[in-house]
Amino acid sequence: YAQTLGGNRYEFYQKLLSVDWDNELALEIDLRHAIERQELQLYYQPKVDLRTGEIVGAEALLRWFQQAKGFISPAKFIPIAEETGLIKPISDWVLKTACKHTKLLHQEGLGFIRVAVNLSGYQFNQEELPQQLLKITLSAGIEPKFIEFELTESLLIADVKLAVDKLKLLKSLGIKIAIDDFGTRYSSLNYLQQLPFDILKIDQCFVRDIEHNSKKQAITKAIIDMAHQLGLKVIAEGVETAGELQFLCQNGCDEMQGYLFSRPLPFRDFKQLVKSKAILSIK
Ligand code: C2E
Ligand code: MG
Ligand code: MG
Ligand code: MG
Repeated sequence: YAQTLGGNRYEFYQKLLSVDWDNELALEIDLRHAIERQELQLYYQPKVDLRTGEIVGAEALLRWFQQAKGFISPAKFIPIAEETGLIKPISDWVLKTACKHTKLLHQEGLGFIRVAVNLSGYQFNQEELPQQLLKITLSAGIEPKFIEFELTESLLIADVKLAVDKLKLLKSLGIKIAIDDFGTRYSSLNYLQQLPFDILKIDQCFVRDIEHNSKKQAITKAIIDMAHQLGLKVIAEGVETAGELQFLCQNGCDEMQGYLFSRPLPFRDFKQLVKSKAILSIK
C-alpha cells in the first residue's frame, strides 16, 4: 500500500514540478493566436468623481477569453507576452481598440469620458511610441488628448532622465500621464519631483480596510496631501466598501474606481452605464 501511495505521490510531485512550465508554454502558444481568433477584449472600469458621484473616465482592462481554458487574467499573461515579444501586437491592438471605443463615445455625445490605457514596458521603451500614438489616434479620428496612459513605477526608474524626456514628449501631444499602483514598489520622492505626471493612483493595498487601519490612514492622507501640493489629481483603486469610500471622500481624494461602484464592463455595457447617468451616492 505504502508503495502504491509512494508511487502516486511521485507522479503527483512530478506533475507539480512540471505544471508551471507546461502551462506557460501552452499559454504562450495560445497567446500567439489570441488576436486572430478574436479572443481579446477590452473591458472598461468607470472612474467616479468623488465630489459629484458621476462617471468621468474609465480604465481599459485587457481580457483574454481562451477557447478551451476560459478567462485568463492579464496579471498572468501580460508577463508572458512581455517575455516573448507578443506584447508588441497585443499592445498595438489595445491602443487601437481603446481609440476606436473612444471615438464611439464621442459619436454618442459622451466625449467627456477620459479613457486610460495601461502602458507595457515594451511600449514605453519603444522609440517610436509618440509617432505610433499619433498614427493610431489619427486613424481612429480622435485627438491624443482624450487618452490617458497609466504607467507603473518600475517602468520609469531604469533611467529617470530618459523617462522625463519621453513623458514630456508624450505630454506635448496632449496625453495625460498617471502613475499606477503608487506606493507598492520603489516609490521614490526623488523621481516624483522630477517626472511630469498628472495623476497619481493609490494602490488598492492602501485602500483595503483603510477605515480600520490607522497606519494606512496616515500613509494615504500623506500621499493625497503631497500629490495635491504637487498639482496631481489623486485616484483610489480597488474601492470595495462604503467605509473605504467614506474615508477617501473625507480626506480629499479626487476620484475612485472599484467594485463598490462597478466591475470592469464590456464596452457596450460601460457605454450604457454612462448613458444611464449612473451616479455613486456619496454620504
Ligand atoms: P492595474 O492597472 O493596477 O488595474 C487594476 C486592477 O484591479 C484590475 O485587475 C482591476 O480589474 C482590479 N480591480 C478594480 N477594482 C477592484 C476592486 O474593487 N477590488 C479588487 N480586488 N480588484 C479590483 P486586472 O483587470 O486583472 O488587471 C491586472 C493588471 O494587468 C493591471 O493592473 C495592469 O497592470 C495589467 N493590465 C491590464 N490590462 C492591460 C493592458 O491592456 N496592457 C497592459 N500592459 N497591462 C494591462
Ligand atoms: Mg492601471
Ligand atoms: Mg493599479
Ligand atoms: Mg495593479
